[in-house]
Amino acid sequence: MQTDTLESLDKAGRNFGTTPRMPALFLGHGSPMNAIEENEFVKGFRKVASEIEKPNMILCISAHWETKGTHVTAMTNPKTIHDFGGFPRELYEIEYPAPGSPQLAEEVRNLVTRAEIELDHQWGLDHGAWSVIRHLYPQADVPVVQLSLDYTQSPRYHYELATQLGALREKGVLIIGSGNMVHNLRRVAWDKMDEDNFSYDWAAEASHKMKRAIEERDHQKLINYKSAGPEFVLSIPTPDHFLPLLYILALQTKDEHAHIFNDKAVGGSLTMTSVKLT
Ligand code: ZN
Repeated sequence: MQTDTLESLDKAGRNFGTTPRMPALFLGHGSPMNAIEENEFVKGFRKVASEIEKPNMILCISAHWETKGTHVTAMTNPKTIHDFGGFPRELYEIEYPAPGSPQLAEEVRNLVTRAEIELDHQWGLDHGAWSVIRHLYPQADVPVVQLSLDYTQSPRYHYELATQLGALREKGVLIIGSGNMVHNLRRVAWDKMDEDNFSYDWAAEASHKMKRAIEERDHQKLINYKSAGPEFVLSIPTPDHFLPLLYILALQTKDEHAHIFNDKAVGGSLTMTSVKLT
């Protein structure tokens, strides 16, 4: 009976959000091939998963889901979306059958007042989500919900919206932003994908300044990246891969540190640099 009481207390405690706060992750996803390749980056993903408590659920903000307005996936069984072209067949055969969570989708909708969030029943899991999450939880046994990026809105809007997601971390939800900090695909040297170097001074400089801003908690500089200098403009030609970083930084509490890992450049103008808040 003693055990029952303790268990129900624990359960009640969980419902009232007294579980330890989950870390939050920004993961540089890079090429879709990272989904099936064995390399130092996927090792980094596995390591970070081994360092943290297994979450009850995951909320993922992927660079690859842009919509008008903000949508949240609300289906029970999200499909695996192969949203890329020209890769080996093996990659198209990957399924990541993690369940969804209509309950978490509803909770996100209720929690966020900065946007009118719409429940989505069409999307699923795009490769920004599954190509990395499959390395964290290969059994696909943690429900995953995706939140879209409203392409009509400013970086500041995204940052402000993201601050409203913080309460989920107290409920065992792991929030993952998936993108790339330096991401200029038009300048990528695809034949140098396995070389760790920058082909351009602007990419190296932007990467350095981004990391410094993260370490110094200068989030304003990153929110205002469009006026932070030509190296930022060249490194972030479109906002999609950068905004997921702002979602994670917006969640940083006063007592938290940003730990940088997978900090390497590939293809000369793309960084895999990732961040763990804990
Ligand atoms: Zn991508």
